[in-house]
Amino acid sequence: MERAAPDRPRSVLAERTLVLNRSWIPIHLTSVRRALVMLFHHAAVAVEPETYSTYDFEQWLRVEPPPGTRIVRTPNREIAIPDVILLSNYDRLPGCTVPFSRRNLARRDFHRCQYCGRRQATDQLTIDHIVPRSCGGGTGWTNCVVACIPCNRKKGCRTPEQAGMKLLSTPKRPDWSLVLAVESGDGAVLARFQGRGGLASRAVGA
Ligand SMILES: [Zn+2]
Repeated sequence: MERAAPDRPRSVLAERTLVLNRSWIPIHLTSVRRALVMLFHHAAVAVEPETYSTYDFEQWLRVEPPPGTRIVRTPNREIAIPDVILLSNYDRLPGCTVPFSRRNLARRDFHRCQYCGRRQATDQLTIDHIVPRSCGGGTGWTNCVVACIPCNRKKGCRTPEQAGMKLLSTPKRPDWSLVLAVESGDGAVLARFQGRGGLASRAVGA
């Protein structure tokens, strides 16, 4: 179920922080709240994206937030929000399970009908079961694609072969999380960080 956008401004604690593993590889986005908790517990250090300097929690508290940057206000101090944190003890790339939904299916398929290739808004895309449910086809990443309404009607309760229609791609389970985040706008931090071109070299050198 998709939640409606709240009327009040989103808490800064709910904004996103990019998480790097110990090899400086981005692994996911977390909330600012969680990022600060991880810093506090020394499970991560904050990274200054301009310089790649790292700060533990106590050092980070002493960082004066530059004007215009995101901050958290506590009764007695302002804390800069870390755009990027680096995990202290975590080398594995996390298994990423993207929940199956029409919205995520549309993202995986780049909002293109997988039969005619037309790009559509999510609400104009239907879930097409490649092998129809009536023929035992399951609902999941490998048997579903998005299709525009006319193509879905045309295909009906038939396989693509039976309908004389060709799929643009072979559907797979998505193995990303950042793609979702980037597309939905949460990836601004990632884009900025990667845009500096330093990530790969740090990853190699780490
Ligand atoms: Zn179509």
